[in-house]
Parts: sequence; C-alpha cells; structure tokens
Amino acid sequence: MHHAVLIPGDGIGPSISEVALRVIEAAGVKIEWETVEAGLPAIDKYKDPLPEHVLEAIRRTRVALKGPITTPVGSGFRSVNVALRKEFDLYANVRPSRSIKGVKSRYADVDLVIVRENTEEFYAGIEHYIDPARSAAETIGVVTRTGSERILRYAYEYARAHGRKKVTTVHKANILKYTSGLFLEVSRKIGAEYPDIITDDKIIDNMAMQMVMNPLQFDVIVTTNLFGDILSDLASGLVGGLGLAPGANIGYTAALFEAVHGSAPDIAGKNLANPAAIILAGVMLLRHLKESAAADRIEKAVEETVGEGKAVTRDLNPGHPVGTTEMGEEIIRNMR
Ligand code: NAD
Repeated sequence: MHHAVLIPGDGIGPSISEVALRVIEAAGVKIEWETVEAGLPAIDKYKDPLPEHVLEAIRRTRVALKGPITTPVGSGFRSVNVALRKEFDLYANVRPSRSIKGVKSRYADVDLVIVRENTEEFYAGIEHYIDPARSAAETIGVVTRTGSERILRYAYEYARAHGRKKVTTVHKANILKYTSGLFLEVSRKIGAEYPDIITDDKIIDNMAMQMVMNPLQFDVIVTTNLFGDILSDLASGLVGGLGLAPGANIGYTAALFEAVHGSAPDIAGKNLANPAAIILAGVMLLRHLKESAAADRIEKAVEETVGEGKAVTRDLNPGHPVGTTEMGEEIIRNMR
C-alpha cells in the first residue's frame, strides 16, 4: 500500500482529480490518499491558502497529486503552486509532450521533454513598487550557479536514463548577459561531462519560432523558470493542447504531480474539462512509485481513448463531445 496526498484544487480541479483517482484505482494500484485542501477552498475554511497541515502531510508522504489552483491576478494571495515548489524545493519541473496518434495537431511525431528550473529567477517573487505612489515596479530575477548546476545535471541525467540523445539549453544570454549568461555557461560545463549526449543551445526567441516550424529537431529542452513556463504551454499546443499535458515537480524530499493547465474557471462545474492531463500526471506519479506496469496500462488507455476521439471532451471533439466523467469511464473501459 502506498501513501500519497491529494490536493483536489479549485475550478475544474476537484472533478478531474476525482476521475484520475478512479482510473488509478481501476488499474489495481493501492494508494491510501490523504485529501487536503489548498487555495480558494482553504481560504474559505482555514483563512489560509496553504495551511500547515497540508505541508505536514506532504512532508510525511513525500508524494502528491495536485489539481490546479487559482492564483488571483495582481492583488490577492501569492501563488500556492509557487509556494509549494519553494517549500519543498521542487527544483525540477518535468513536462513531456508527445504526439498521440489520432489527435488532430500540426505534427505527427513530436516527442520532447521540457525540464524547467522551478525555484529561481522571476518566479522567486522578489518584487515591489519603488515608491508609495506606485509609479514604477521592479522584480529581481536571481539565477544561482548552484540552482543552474542542479537543474542542468537533472536534465542530462534524465536524458541518459530515458535514452534521449540531445539536450538543448534555452536562454537569452545575448541580452541578459549575467543571469542567462550564467545559465548558459553552466550548461556548457555540465554538457561536456556527457559526451554521449548532444549539447545544443538556442536563444529563446529563435527557440519559439523553431519549435513551431520544426519541433522534431528537439529532444530534452532545459531552461530557466519563465521561459520554461511559456515554452511548455507552446509544446502542449503542438500535441493537442493543455488538456493532454502533464507535469512533475521533483525535489530531493518530495515530488508533486499535476497538469500543466490551470483551474479553467471558464468551464468549471460544467463537466466539460478534459481529465487526461491529470490522469497522465497520475501516470508520472505511478512511475515515481515504481508502479510501471499500471502506469503503462493507464497511458495506453488514455492514448487509445484520445486517439479514437469518440468518447472525449469538447476540446478534442467539439462536434460530438462527452463529459469529464464519461471520458474517464471510457478510459477505464479501455484499460480492461
Ligand atoms: P487555464 O490553463 O486554466 O485555461 C486556459 C484555457 O485552456 C481555458 O480556455 C480553459 O478552458 C482551457 N483548459 C484548461 N484546462 C483544460 C482542460 N483540462 N480541459 C479543457 N480545457 C481546458 O489558464 P488560465 O485561464 O490562464 O488560468 C486560470 C487560473 O489557473 C489562474 O488563476 C492561474 O493562475 C491558475 N493556474 C494554475 C496552475 C496550477 O495550479 N499549477 C497552472 C496554470 C494556471
């Protein structure tokens, strides 16, 4: 029996995570889930978006599945997602994007993984107005040598462990000569330690164009926090959209799995959300727990369901969609 934390989240989170749990259970894996609330539901109940008992539960189980959590824009509480990454030093954000046969998209054979630095630079939240009149604001993006080394090493080790051939570092070292420059310098040093893997680098603006024009040239992509955030949404758009994109947040003491997408308030509570991304995040969680056979079965069933396109949500089949729950049931049927 495994123990793990479930944070259902808000918006579409509770409905898609419920489906994910049902699918994992149907695959025969025994997990005792400790369900805790964070974000908007926790503010209602505990007046705190990230209560201490949530942190304590993750500290204990060391693994969590998380639904999306709304972050108010501008004012309001700081991102719970960012706070969790900081608290557990979840420095590696791993976001795979792979084409699924049958899903309408621009390319048939995309298979890339974005490894995003998850704790530094513009997500560190070091920002403020410079005066009481709020006439200007500044943010400080700190990139450290230690932070760069560990994420770049993670990317190369990931490439080696998964039989991947190339690591592309994405940066803006021509303009951000110190922060991005440091990241690039470290990437060349670490890359030299992995002669079996091709080391490449691209400037972020060119990278955005190259990924749209010819994504097949990429394999593992490693980059700093903000670039990684943007590129991973772009990558999900290459293989059928946010509804299919999972992600893992990995640290030394804990791992947290979630969909790349957010809480989708525009479709919340309508049984419209695609549950595939969080189910695939569950697949990553199962592999982390060394439940590879169950992970493979679920992944195959998701690919079959999505590829057939008959019992999928509106984002994948606008003409004849089914609901979130019904898509989950079809995935379970395809597992048998
Ligand atoms: P979003 O990802 O929630 O939605 C973007 C678009 O994609 C919307 O049109 C939405 O309907 C659609 N979409 C997203 N997930 C879908 C799914 N599973 N099935 C079908 N369609 C789906 O992005 P947003 O609207 O910019 O953000 C909403 C909130 O989510 C914000 O508060 C943001 O901060 C938060 N957010 C949280 C996380 C997280 O918890 N890790 C990640 C991203 C955004």
